[in-house]
Amino acid sequence: MSLAALATDLSLSARAHRVAAVAAEFAETVDRDARFPEEAVNAMKAERLLGIQIPARLGGEDATTLELAEVCAILGQSCAAAAMVFAMHQIKVSSLVEHGEESAWHIDFMRELAARQLLVASATTEGGIGGNLRNSICAIEIDGDTCRLSKDATVISYGTHADAIMITSRAHDKAAPGDQVMTVFRRGQYSLEKTVTWDTLGMRGTCSDGFLFKGEAPAVQIFPKPFAEIAAQSMLANSHLLWSGVWFGIAADAVSRAQAFVRAAARKTPGAQPPGTLRLAEASSLLQMLKSNILCGLKTYQQAKADPDHLSSMAFSIAMNNIKLASSETILTIINQAMIVCGIMGYKNGTPYSLGRHLRDAHSAQLMISNDRILGNTSTMLLIQKPDTSLLG
Ligand SMILES: Cc1cc2nc3c(=O)[nH]c(=O)nc-3n(C[C@H](O)[C@H](O)[C@H](O)COP(=O)(O)OP(=O)(O)OC[C@H]3O[C@@H](n4cnc5c(N)ncnc54)[C@H](O)[C@@H]3O)c2cc1C
Repeated sequence: MSLAALATDLSLSARAHRVAAVAAEFAETVDRDARFPEEAVNAMKAERLLGIQIPARLGGEDATTLELAEVCAILGQSCAAAAMVFAMHQIKVSSLVEHGEESAWHIDFMRELAARQLLVASATTEGGIGGNLRNSICAIEIDGDTCRLSKDATVISYGTHADAIMITSRAHDKAAPGDQVMTVFRRGQYSLEKTVTWDTLGMRGTCSDGFLFKGEAPAVQIFPKPFAEIAAQSMLANSHLLWSGVWFGIAADAVSRAQAFVRAAARKTPGAQPPGTLRLAEASSLLQMLKSNILCGLKTYQQAKADPDHLSSMAFSIAMNNIKLASSETILTIINQAMIVCGIMGYKNGTPYSLGRHLRDAHSAQLMISNDRILGNTSTMLLIQKPDTSLLG
């Protein structure tokens, strides 16, 4: 396709590639300065990517989880931080789409999000609870038509850049830690007092600082469904699948760089197979396995969406947990293989084969909900649940 044709192509893939080109241009500075990928997010808005998942009748495009994961993968090949911002936003939107239709306020918010390309952040992590998102210490206070919340939110990605934050808490001050709700607070309805600075190994551009969150809003902004159902039926699958899409993108770009290195070496010594070729083949095989893992998860989620009981089942949770565990571990092996192929040119910054940023960004995958925590949950379920032993369904 010619450049002119590509510039006017309105397919989702072409729009995502145009955003990816912008993201790639600024990826190094975003990483070096640990700054928000503003140019890439502005490009997402210009290409109207932030509302694609919202139903068409509310101004969106009815994008499927597969389409969202593909956009994550395209962006992940350019700038993992920008891709992760897109993924985290879409995970929040998925909860609106799946659980917001029972509430007039949430329907209106979806309409506005699609029209104005609003960016939504997430605050589940809490001081004293860590990554155990199914527990909260803070509790929402409901006073007539108004709700108030104060939360020690130790990680909120792009918190100061978001137009709204979806935040978890206990349902009331006497509720048990697991009796939670999720509330949408719009910018202007909350204050953020910075408590922790995000100066990390990788994913630096997600700007995931910690804040003391204080909000007050109309109580209708609390999701009518308990957070337990939201977590099981939309957040679990969307988080693991869209994160995996981003991670696939990082690994795919590492393999592309390794291939470019091997091809350049082959051109220098015609007739001789460059060292590293076998490792490239190995990395390509692992990348395909990673792709199969994600596609299998997407298919499982698509099938489960038709059956709410299955969506809340242990079998489904185990399947989604396993996608996350496999994706987050495999990418490190793939990028490491690519690094060995490229040698010092991969290890150095500023070469066409540099892989330091890929490797650093990829290390966050095991920690984004700790793999040990996920393994702990899965192992408890496996005391009861039969392992999946079929290739069908
Ligand atoms: C790039 C990035 C962006 C993020 N963005 C956000 C965001 O926008 N909003 C948000 O709310 N959060 C966000 N997080 C937080 C994240 O998803 C995790 O919840 C958080 O990082 C977990 O913190 P922790 O490492 O202290 O883990 P914890 O889960 O508190 O665990 C601490 C340690 O204990 C171990 N551990 C814990 N539980 C178990 C167990 N059951 N069995 C064995 N070992 C266990 C872990 O291995 C770990 O070493 C983000 C994280 C990253 C990396």
